[in-house]
Amino acid sequence: MGHGWQGAVLKLMRGRDFTFTVTGAEQVTEDYRRVHLTDGGLLAAAGVHPTMWVRLWFRDAGKPHQRAYTLVDPDPEAGTFSLEFALHDGVASRWARTCAPGDTVEATLQGTGFETPDPLPGRLLVVGDAASLPAVNSLLDALPGVPATVWFETQHASDEGLPVRLDPARHELRRVPREDGGEALVTRVKAELPQLADASSYVWIACDTATTRALAGYVRKDLALPKERVHALGYWRAS
Ligand SMILES: Cc1cc2nc3c(=O)[nH]c(=O)nc-3n(C[C@H](O)[C@H](O)[C@H](O)COP(=O)(O)OP(=O)(O)OC[C@H]3O[C@@H](n4cnc5c(N)ncnc54)[C@H](O)[C@@H]3O)c2cc1C
Repeated sequence: MGHGWQGAVLKLMRGRDFTFTVTGAEQVTEDYRRVHLTDGGLLAAAGVHPTMWVRLWFRDAGKPHQRAYTLVDPDPEAGTFSLEFALHDGVASRWARTCAPGDTVEATLQGTGFETPDPLPGRLLVVGDAASLPAVNSLLDALPGVPATVWFETQHASDEGLPVRLDPARHELRRVPREDGGEALVTRVKAELPQLADASSYVWIACDTATTRALAGYVRKDLALPKERVHALGYWRAS
């Protein structure tokens, strides 16, 4: 598949292309689907890091569309991983709903990275949702022993069944139903996060772009947390 001008820009930025092959899929909840794939050589070529993501290419109405997805349980020896899709109405979600073993999807690796917070945080303060759940899980796995509080925005009744990998001894999950385009989450986090944040905290935020921007501005400017202790990336655009 030609990747259009976006693909050309990624090539210039030294993006590397791979083809993944579907080996199976499972419906985790009504609104969340896990797809198993072989990696087309990705993991051997690029290694693995926490929250690692790829740009997948989908074709719709003759045009290429790029969508970011996070690797779940990458296994470099086997050359396999899974992808988990928070389902809605979109080209990536449609593909995830219908893909079958043997189907392929093209991917470009460009832009992903992770630096383990140094020194290790006294507490992780995480704000996410179903789209960033794979990254949240991988972050919690990557920092064993670090306590975490997770504000998790939910959109569906079925989100109760999402596979949040919590260690009840160290992790606390605070579910926040999505209201007013993310405003409820912003209000809740602003009310609760300051009581838990201190100089040793590490804040990780990945929700829709507007909510992420509002919360990132709040922790950086109003709470004056050092910028190297805050990671924020908008994961999807609400319409
Ligand atoms: C670094 C990174 C990693 C990501 N990893 C994952 C991942 O592992 N799993 C995952 O599910 N998503 C992940 N996302 C988010 C995903 O890329 C977006 O949700 C993307 O827009 C989905 O594409 P689509 O073609 O299905 O929908 P689009 O065509 O982009 O959008 C169609 C409609 O659905 C709405 N929409 C899009 N995403 C969501 C959502 N999450 N919730 C509700 N409505 C939505 C849009 O507002 C629009 O109305 C990641 C994003 C980034 C930046």
